[in-house]
Amino acid sequence: MATDYDAPRKQEDESDSLDALKQSIPTKQNTSVDDEGDSSEYSLADGPDLSEAELDVVVLPPQENEFTCVECFLVKHHSQLAYENDLGPVCKDCAA
Ligand SMILES: [Zn+2]
Repeated sequence: MATDYDAPRKQEDESDSLDALKQSIPTKQNTSVDDEGDSSEYSLADGPDLSEAELDVVVLPPQENEFTCVECFLVKHHSQLAYENDLGPVCKDCAA
């Protein structure tokens, strides 16, 4: 039974892990209402689990083809790189 729900969710994980994580939590709550064994999963005392998961997905390091501009602090694609100063890369918007 559970496999029917897991299969599509795993695919979402790969393409959009952020959404999948947030969606999987409320979904578990709904399905576990019928399952007494899982009821502890959504007790309010389990707060730390949630915040930990959010921290994991919110902090995304720049990809290999991206950089963080030291002027505007935005993550830009490498095609937007104008030059690098002493502090680091500067995007074309800031260099203009
Ligand atoms: Zn910039």
